[in-house]
Amino acid sequence: MFAQPLIDALEFARNGKQLRGEVPISALSRLGDLLTDSRGMLHYAVHGYRVGEVDMLGIEISGECHLRCQRCLGELNYPLTLNANLRLVSSAEMDEVEAEDEVEYLEASSQLDVLALVEDELLLSLPFSPKHATGVCVPAPESLQHSANPFSVLAALKK
Ligand SMILES: [Zn+2]
Repeated sequence: MFAQPLIDALEFARNGKQLRGEVPISALSRLGDLLTDSRGMLHYAVHGYRVGEVDMLGIEISGECHLRCQRCLGELNYPLTLNANLRLVSSAEMDEVEAEDEVEYLEASSQLDVLALVEDELLLSLPFSPKHATGVCVPAPESLQHSANPFSVLAALKK
């Protein structure tokens, strides 16, 4: 089995802690609709830090996944490297910050599920409509086109 770590987000940030691990893509079930299969592992690293009085979490994710090309519906190797910096805020503050979007906010949970965070970041960063390079593949027949439904991904995000 792989570790499914929970961290106390504020404590983690204030003490400059770091956590590294890996997770099989098959464990990230919300990605399912975007992928042709769930082979592979992703590596992640989370580190806490402060900027002045502001508590932050940095997250890095790397690996490769197999997205479904939206033209031919075939497999598309997609190398992942993702870096995000999240500003930790209380749930009360969270209600007020939605309008700003140049900074990503995260509610500072004392039991933050790191793998759920990794999955959230992936869902935000993966291309909405990935395709092979132009000329590499041909469109799938119309009748197959609705089998990869981007709206089911949005629905998963709202849970
Ligand atoms: Zn294609």
